[in-house]
Amino acid sequence: MKILVTGGAGFIGSHLCERLLSDGHAVIAMDNLITGSTDNIAHLAGRDDFSFIHHDVTNYIFVQGELDFIFHLASPASPADYLAFPIQTLKVGSLGTHKALGLAREKSAGFLLASTSEVYGDPLIHPQPEDYWGNVNPVGPRGVYDEAKRFAEALAFAYRRYHSMDTKIARIFNTYGPRMRAEDGRVVPAFICQALADEDLTVFGNGQQTRSFCFVSDTVDGLVRLMESDISGPVNIGNPDEMTIREFADFIIDLTGSGSSITHRDLPEDDPKVRRPDISLASGRLGWRPAVPLLEGLSKTVDYFRGKLSC
Ligand code: NAD
Ligand code: UDP
Repeated sequence: MKILVTGGAGFIGSHLCERLLSDGHAVIAMDNLITGSTDNIAHLAGRDDFSFIHHDVTNYIFVQGELDFIFHLASPASPADYLAFPIQTLKVGSLGTHKALGLAREKSAGFLLASTSEVYGDPLIHPQPEDYWGNVNPVGPRGVYDEAKRFAEALAFAYRRYHSMDTKIARIFNTYGPRMRAEDGRVVPAFICQALADEDLTVFGNGQQTRSFCFVSDTVDGLVRLMESDISGPVNIGNPDEMTIREFADFIIDLTGSGSSITHRDLPEDDPKVRRPDISLASGRLGWRPAVPLLEGLSKTVDYFRGKLSC
């Protein structure tokens, strides 16, 4: 197939491009590089089956020739990024999703939206199944991301219903791995880089909030299986192994053998208190469940950041 990946120079997008190429597809990565980098896809440059288009998908998207499938990943994703770029985040979730869906319709291509566990907000049901409607504060600082993704889901469903298009929605939970930016503010790169530098790990609040971390190759495999399936979703893609952020900090200190201690900072407004995916749908319908244990995935991620920090 010929596949477009918006956000293809980002963290997950670049791993997805690699996986699709290794499955024998031709891939176009499209990105405006607001939070991504061509460094993430430099090793793919020069291949006949890969190309990169520098473009902001909130503007009309032109792609020459046929397209079979579009993965729409373009969007700032780290809380620090979407707080720094609130309007761009709202625009890419709304206008960008509209343009990407319009392109999919024009090309009669399949479409997969990279949505997020943030559509559940600060959840009142735990773990979160797909039929939970969520608890989102539309006017809080995180609302720019959460509501953009909720709008994007509604738009994908409207195109499915009214244009009979093959649209799919993946709700991705916290994903980590090589090619996250050291400074993107998310807890995995933050703690690893602090530990490697023997600086205190900055635990927000009392650290009793929970997250469930999924290695990037598992997330990408879930996205590919959803593309290949006959279901539309939404489908949760995430690792159900849940831990508190305080436990996670201790885990990182042990893993890196760091002399770091813990320091506490204020909990950001509307920070979800718990998060864990119910993956019954993905395991039942896609035959998918995460395969990479936390220790293995984090070891690879630590190696990546060791390499970066010693550059
Ligand atoms: P990322 O910031 O590394 O990648 C996003 C990419 O989108 C970047 O390369 C950025 O430059 C690009 N982009 C943003 N706005 C754009 C625009 N207007 N036009 C073109 N490109 C644009 O983030 P990521 O972690 O790789 O996330 C990828 C997708 O997965 C996002 O849609 C995110 O919401 C979703 N997601 C990620 C996670 C996670 O834990 N990483 C969890 C849930 C959902
Ligand atoms: N967090 C933290 N210290 C940091 C960065 C994040 O304690 O330096 C916490 C944050 O408050 C949240 C969790 O770690 O409870 C995960 O944050 P992240 O930004 O990775 O993603 P989120 O799941 O909130 O989107």
